[in-house]
Amino acid sequence: MSSLVVPGLTRVSLGMVNAYLVHDKESVVIVDSGLKVHGPRILRAVRRLGRQPEDVQLIIATHAHIDHTGSLAFLKRSTGAPVAMHPADAELVASGATIRPWTPGRDRLSRFICALSPPAGRARVEPVLPDTLLTDGAQIDLTGGLRVHHAPGHSAGQIVLLWRESVLIGADIVTNWGHLRPPVLFEEESLAYDTIRRIALLPFETAVFGHGRPIVGAAKRVIADWAESLPD
Ligand SMILES: [Zn+2]
Ligand SMILES: [Zn+2]
Repeated sequence: MSSLVVPGLTRVSLGMVNAYLVHDKESVVIVDSGLKVHGPRILRAVRRLGRQPEDVQLIIATHAHIDHTGSLAFLKRSTGAPVAMHPADAELVASGATIRPWTPGRDRLSRFICALSPPAGRARVEPVLPDTLLTDGAQIDLTGGLRVHHAPGHSAGQIVLLWRESVLIGADIVTNWGHLRPPVLFEEESLAYDTIRRIALLPFETAVFGHGRPIVGAAKRVIADWAESLPD
């Protein structure tokens, strides 16, 4: 199911994970690709905008995890669009790997979800050689402008995107299942908290996440207030 978050930003809800379409009259950018089964649903959402797969100009993966890169190869083939991601996670996906050694968050829900997750060796995707490497501060001149911010801690090569200086596409720095919480797993937990505090300083009104619901309006204050409760 896809729904408009704000004009030009469509959330493609894929159950436990989201992908996003950022669009204007000229172009469509896909952000994240769900699991392996989700590719056709993302293309259906593109068609529902009245666009064709060939109209997609860029596919961005916010990080290498399998629920964000599962259909990356499929979407690249189907659209012919280049794939862009941070070099640290591009390295993983180029070999079909999606995850590094990690630890679950401290709470029970994190430990429960992580216990259900496949071991790293099985969390593999069809390898994709990214065409464009995105580092901190990179500017993408499509759909009114997407600014790249490196957001490590959950994954070393995670990025978030600030769109039109007003919308945060927040990947997995925070999840929003009814209330905000940190991701369930970390490569470096304290670095992930530093990342949240740093990203909360950016100017945005609306925030969307890899998991859970968008916050439309006053999102910066909601996230910044919540971030004050995070441990160091
Ligand atoms: Zn993740
Ligand atoms: Zn995720």
